[in-house]
Amino acid sequence: MTGRGAGPRPVSVILATAGIHLQARSRRSTGWIPAPDRVEGRLRRNDGPGRAKTPGALDWGVGPKIFAVSPKNILNADLHCHSVVSDGTLSPEALAERAKLNGVELWALTDHDEVGGQQRALAAAQAQGMRYLTGAEISVTFAGETVHIVGLGFDADDLALRQGLLATRSGRRERAQEMSEGLAQVGIRGAYEGALKFVGNPELISRTHFARFLVESGVCKETNEVFRKYLTEGKPGYVPHRWASLHNAVSWITGAQGVAVIAHPARYKFTPNEEFALFSEFKAHGGQAVEVVTGSHSVQEYVRYAEAAKEFGLAASRGSDFHSPDESHTDLGTLPFLPGELTPVWELLADRIQ
Ligand code: AMP
Ligand code: MN
Ligand code: MN
Ligand code: MN
Repeated sequence: MTGRGAGPRPVSVILATAGIHLQARSRRSTGWIPAPDRVEGRLRRNDGPGRAKTPGALDWGVGPKIFAVSPKNILNADLHCHSVVSDGTLSPEALAERAKLNGVELWALTDHDEVGGQQRALAAAQAQGMRYLTGAEISVTFAGETVHIVGLGFDADDLALRQGLLATRSGRRERAQEMSEGLAQVGIRGAYEGALKFVGNPELISRTHFARFLVESGVCKETNEVFRKYLTEGKPGYVPHRWASLHNAVSWITGAQGVAVIAHPARYKFTPNEEFALFSEFKAHGGQAVEVVTGSHSVQEYVRYAEAAKEFGLAASRGSDFHSPDESHTDLGTLPFLPGELTPVWELLADRIQ
């Protein structure tokens, strides 16, 4: 006999009884909410262009594989973004306001190689009623590739950290001049001066500023195209650069009582051996976390780096890597929650949250 409710139970109900919650979000609201109990259907990532055809409809934020959260991970933390102090286009204050509007509860500003925005970001977070962790994203050269290491919860006044960041920033101006010469050789003149117009911090001229100049001057339609055609290895505006060592970057962060995090691991063009070396050496130097849920990762990459976090005994971080309303596909505070089986990085930083 088949009575009412005797059909297959939705996966969300099965998981909820085990204390695991799937997640969903409404297109009208911002941020993610724990999903209601009775939803079935194919699960997919919801934040790509052209997805979510029905405005206001609940839209699943998870896999083809089930991507579940546990209550300890239901926190809208956004621990990776950039302001005008590096290569973002918004001020720390405007970012704090945007984060708050998007439901962020715990925030970190992580400018490249620079902590000059930290005081303003903390004050702005406090004015918005958001909890705050200090942050920076350090450029590192590892196995011939640029790797980014995010530091969270450090003492931003720590002298060794500040000196290390200063040393890492040095050389950007010369590199930028060389980039400009490379571009001039293919007929793009005045790129150094053009890029400088977009720079908020004269010590932090980056490829992003060149990309904005090339878009403004009509050479390319969007920044992605500029990187593809002009600013990546083998292209006319690319100049190889030696950044900090992995060991130094991790030591500056941990020496200042912070936690070091491997940023967006799926973006590096490593062989499996090189990636294994990155994770092993990072861990050996005292690194403690990896970004699993981040703006440039696919759902498959969430799953892959959730596995890596478990394999290497690392905590997990979550951050949009937001740079600009005009350029970034992932807004502050809009990513899925961290997978439930992982330790969130904020658990390691409980006493560093301001
Ligand atoms: P730099 O530190 O000067 O080498 O610049 C690196 C920055 O360029 C990164 O932090 C990103 O913000 C940006 N970037 C790198 N690759 C791309 C890309 N393919 N499209 C858009 N922005 C990119
Ligand atoms: Mn950047
Ligand atoms: Mn990065
Ligand atoms: Mn970044």
